[in-house]
Amino acid sequence: MSVSSASPPVLIIEDEPQIRRLLQLTLESNGFRVHQASSGGDGLARSATDRPEAVVLDLGLPDMDGIEVLKQIRSRSTVPVLILSVRNSEQDVISCLNAGADDYLMKPFRQGELVARVKAAIRHRQQPETRGAIIAGPVTVDLDARVVKRRGEIVRLTGTEYALLALFVRNAGRVLTHRYILEQVWGPAYAEESQYTRVYVGQLRKKLEDDPANPQLIVTESGIGYRFAV
Ligand code: CA
Repeated sequence: MSVSSASPPVLIIEDEPQIRRLLQLTLESNGFRVHQASSGGDGLARSATDRPEAVVLDLGLPDMDGIEVLKQIRSRSTVPVLILSVRNSEQDVISCLNAGADDYLMKPFRQGELVARVKAAIRHRQQPETRGAIIAGPVTVDLDARVVKRRGEIVRLTGTEYALLALFVRNAGRVLTHRYILEQVWGPAYAEESQYTRVYVGQLRKKLEDDPANPQLIVTESGIGYRFAV
């Protein structure tokens, strides 16, 4: 198997050697370059030095909780983070999404699904966009430069937040159903996971709206989905 410098680097933060090995083999055989860390502290250091294009993060680490690792990564980077965990309550999933995770995969995982989700997370950051800047109230979205500003100040969005906002902007004025949003941003396997849209729309509102509790940009169409109001 050949690993070239063009292979996207992925950082695995996982303390169990066998799962780390499985992740490494799975990702390398699909063209990724793999960096590994077996603790939260090492993972944080490597997430800064190794410049990964995606991070696969275990929640149960020996030195610190994976959520804390996620929060620290998110405080300085928009790199896509996929959570890998045996914890599977809706509350766990929502906590991770709220802390800035791009995706959540349960252990034991299917290898094909892991690869598909890592690729999707990376693609969200690289998606070629239609041209031009869109102004909506206090917010400017430049789809060419992938820059979002609010009252002239740059707003930092994660890859998935940006992918969701870009979908709204490209469909400004149209009502998008939960299912359509989930399929477009996360993929067909997510069509029923409406907590993803709820959490992510909440995050976008916090970052973009003057009053997130009374949104003027991303409007809820009750029982249907959302509409980006221009
Ligand atoms: Ca673990």
